[in-house]
Amino acid sequence: MSGVLIFGEVDSTGQLTTASLQLASAARELASALNQALFGGLIGTKLDRACESFQGGLASLYMSEGEQFSPYSTQAYVQAARAIIEASGATTILFVQGSPAREWVPALAAQMDAGLVTNCTAIAVQDNFLVATKPVNGGSVLGTFHITSPLRMLMLSTSEFAPLQMEGSCAVQTVDLPINASSKVSVLSEVFEGAASGPRLKEAGIVISGGRGVGGETNWHHIEAAAQTLSAAVGCSRPVAEAGWLSSSHQVGLSGTTVAPSLYIAVGISGAPQHLAGITAAKMVVAINNDENADIFKRADLGVVGDFAEILKGFTHRVKALRG
Ligand code: FAD
Repeated sequence: MSGVLIFGEVDSTGQLTTASLQLASAARELASALNQALFGGLIGTKLDRACESFQGGLASLYMSEGEQFSPYSTQAYVQAARAIIEASGATTILFVQGSPAREWVPALAAQMDAGLVTNCTAIAVQDNFLVATKPVNGGSVLGTFHITSPLRMLMLSTSEFAPLQMEGSCAVQTVDLPINASSKVSVLSEVFEGAASGPRLKEAGIVISGGRGVGGETNWHHIEAAAQTLSAAVGCSRPVAEAGWLSSSHQVGLSGTTVAPSLYIAVGISGAPQHLAGITAAKMVVAINNDENADIFKRADLGVVGDFAEILKGFTHRVKALRG
């Protein structure tokens, strides 16, 4: 029994996420270093489209599809993933570090007695050991972990990997679960966050993020206006999400989303290591802060010292004027 298995992530519209293709890219290198086959797994309700774009380069794709996955239930996902792992015979399993996997994967690892490292940023093979790297101590240090158990699981922050093109086809196998395999938990209601306008945070080329320095919800329109002008995605620091100025799905950092834009604009953000852990792959960082000694300027390629509202107003005005 051997092989590397990757679980694709499917969004609410049935589309395979870019993070899944980035995961495939990291997994392909790993499978080749281990000299093992690469398998895929998909779990969800409507998998037709995801299945089409998740086959090229795989030895086989295993799918578990059905109504038992909606509404979301940890138990149904754990059962399906377990069945797929057992059907494939894979012993190294990779997942995208995202929601809801961060909820069901630890339960799966515990149930299957697997060694699990979450939030990895790199994976390598050294002397036949699998070595995972991840930020620890609030993101200020990179730790390396050897997984010694026979079954090994890794959740990967994929933003630093280029997406793998997966055109082509492979054998597709269906893994059936009984419909009542769902859950001991009853879902009373589901609340969906309204779809955000503009690009998705994780995939955006430009991200503008606001921090506590923005001063409150009533000032947030400055960030929105700049984001609209630049066709950028909106992010935030943790205090902003905790204060409820923006939903936590916009939080960038160690306990939020990792991003990899060409341009990251940090507005009223001090530059704590936990925030910086989310932007290590950003190509250019611009910081706006009224404290010239703020740590964010150590990470920034360009910095502007002053009141953010004045600077952003002038900036959006200038960009609009340049565009005519
Ligand atoms: P502050 O540190 O308060 O900084 C505000 C900045 O705004 C200051 O630099 C100030 O000079 C500037 N400012 C004030 N007024 C203005 C103005 N008018 N114009 C311009 N600038 C102005 N944080 C995250 O962001 N993401 C995470 O994922 C995350 N995960 C964490 C996980 C753990 C386990 C822990 C312990 C912490 C985590 N944190 C995270 C919190 C982190 O440590 C910091 O507390 C947080 O990032 C600070 O947010 P901030 O920069 O918005 O606020």
